[in-house]
Amino acid sequence: MPNFYSPEDIIRPEILALSAYHVPPATGMIKLDAMENPYPLPSALRDEIAQLTLNAPVNRYPDASAATLKATLRQALGIADDMDILLGNGSDEIIQIIAMAVAKPGAVLMSAEPAFVMFRMIATFANIQYAGVPLRKDFSLDLDAMLAAIAQHRPAVIFLAYPNNPTGNLFDPAAIESILQTTSGIVVVDEAYHAFADASFIDKLSQYPNLLLMRTLSKSGLAGLRLGLLIGRSEWLKQLEKVRLPYNIGIMTQLIAEKVLHHTTVLSQQAEAIKSERTKMNTFLGTMRGVEVYPSDANFILFRVNAASQIFQALKQHNILIKNLDGSHPLLENCLRVTVGTPDENSQFCAALRTILSETV
Ligand SMILES: *Cc1c(COP(=O)(O)O)cnc(C)c1O
Repeated sequence: MPNFYSPEDIIRPEILALSAYHVPPATGMIKLDAMENPYPLPSALRDEIAQLTLNAPVNRYPDASAATLKATLRQALGIADDMDILLGNGSDEIIQIIAMAVAKPGAVLMSAEPAFVMFRMIATFANIQYAGVPLRKDFSLDLDAMLAAIAQHRPAVIFLAYPNNPTGNLFDPAAIESILQTTSGIVVVDEAYHAFADASFIDKLSQYPNLLLMRTLSKSGLAGLRLGLLIGRSEWLKQLEKVRLPYNIGIMTQLIAEKVLHHTTVLSQQAEAIKSERTKMNTFLGTMRGVEVYPSDANFILFRVNAASQIFQALKQHNILIKNLDGSHPLLENCLRVTVGTPDENSQFCAALRTILSETV
């Protein structure tokens, strides 16, 4: 019998030091913590999906190139013919593909913090160094700090979410363009919340050879399918394709996403409903004493209170789950993030918060 290794003996120390991405249990709760679209698909469309799944050849591997789905995406999203598309099992997987592909010894992955937590986590998984450059106090991009960090670290890749998660704002596009013009590496503009913002870098792809644009269907209503995409020049995407596992997009995802993409008005109407609820919630939060609310171009709202953990717990007692960001980054002290839900969910959240705030002061 050999002397068996324990995990501590063979797992990389930086993995041992991580805490796993925590998804809190939410059964029976009003779930406003994960930027999901709260609306189901219309029942006629769900019937069509049922028919598709009935006949899906699940004994076969899916189309490894997902050619039909890509063609539909190209049409639905208005992707230029001279740009390639890479598909991921969620855009999380695309971040991982990029990080693995560029992870030479000493290579750096950079972002502006507070950022989407997966940028840092995936950098660790892929064994690439991570550099987070703090945003300004108002969550705008600190261009001077970014340019200094670029000069210092020479990052292989910079990830910028546009709008940013968890702050909800769009960075100044001119600042992002300065970064594109300065850095030698690639810049991935992550437009996960594009459906709720009236801005995009998609038209800049032809101008900047080092720009890659990432989207996902998750936040606009198909989180359960897991489909993300990267748009960019073939010289980049054909290299990244080598790292993508051949059957990463399952047949159900291919069939259902394609079907729904032929009904994009359904998703855009839901996004419009979410945007108008966002306005209402923002106004409500603005009227609450002891609440500082930040403007949002996404389907969630960041706000600051006096005792975030206490209010977070009290909302849980009211059966409402949001996200507590206190302690996750110095700039997010006492910050909470609420996803915009249905009108009914949002009014329950607002009523509960009003009650809690009147009790805690
Ligand atoms: C939610 C999110 C993603 C990941 O979405 P997937 O569900 O993996 O497609 C990527 N980037 C940002 C900024 C996000 O908030």
